[in-house]
Amino acid sequence: MTDFPRSLPEFERRFPDEAACAEWLLERRWGSGFACPECGHDRFWRLGRKVLTLQCRACRRETSVTAGTVMHRSHLPLKVWFTAAWLVATHRNGMSARQLWLQLGLGSYKSAWLLLRKLRAAMVDPDREPLAGLVEVDETSLPFRGGGEPARPGRSHDGKLLVAGAVEIRGKGPGRIRLAVIGDCSAVALGAFVAGNVAEGSTVVSDGWAGYKRLKDVKHDPKVVGDAPAHLVLPWVHRVFANAKRWALGVYHGLRPKHLQAYLDEFVFRFNRRRTPHAAFDRLLGLSLTLEPASYQMLVGRS
Ligand SMILES: [Zn+2]
Repeated sequence: MTDFPRSLPEFERRFPDEAACAEWLLERRWGSGFACPECGHDRFWRLGRKVLTLQCRACRRETSVTAGTVMHRSHLPLKVWFTAAWLVATHRNGMSARQLWLQLGLGSYKSAWLLLRKLRAAMVDPDREPLAGLVEVDETSLPFRGGGEPARPGRSHDGKLLVAGAVEIRGKGPGRIRLAVIGDCSAVALGAFVAGNVAEGSTVVSDGWAGYKRLKDVKHDPKVVGDAPAHLVLPWVHRVFANAKRWALGVYHGLRPKHLQAYLDEFVFRFNRRRTPHAAFDRLLGLSLTLEPASYQMLVGRS
């Protein structure tokens, strides 16, 4: 979107109502030409349904502008989805379900919670390219809260979760990042993290921990020899860890083990799109990929 709204008044001018949202979807999806998903024909009629629907002039198949997106068959208006995606894409630190509920004026907290979970489910691109080139890799532990109490540093009854992180180095700064929950710091766990997130032929810079000694398909450059502190030789992955921890405490008031990977995915999503809010907006609405609609059961982890 070249005219991506930077402020709420701009957003209101751009998307004043349902029709504006539907027209934007039509343009965004088939601006360069419609092709019927059934027969490939390019001419259509517009049907005045609840949500703008195109009917193929050859085979009569009907295609909604929301088909294949996270919004499909939702009872919520397009405007609510657009506003939620815009808030989540542009809000610097992200939104809690409660903030979203209050901002959108939705009837129930549960609606806001479910909406946010669906937007978050769109944050991981299954076809994303692995990190490449020079990549800092390290692991850290994050505190999680037990018994519903907010996590505070140093509290003995709170647990720790292990997280592996990788940061691409582009010139003098960070490129893309990845964060994943790991079971332990063994060579097997760290090797699987690197294999799943770093392209073959890349150079992995680590603190020289034995867990990294048996990496396959990548060059390994252990930086910490002797007493040099890890944050001096791995500055970017340590900065990412510190930001992720601060963000988790600020937005979520501590982490719960069950949802940790989802929180990490949101942090990675925000970091990797920090300069392209329009791309974040598109992806949140499910426009740059075909998503299986996530059911309530899937989202609450009871599937
Ligand atoms: Zn057709």
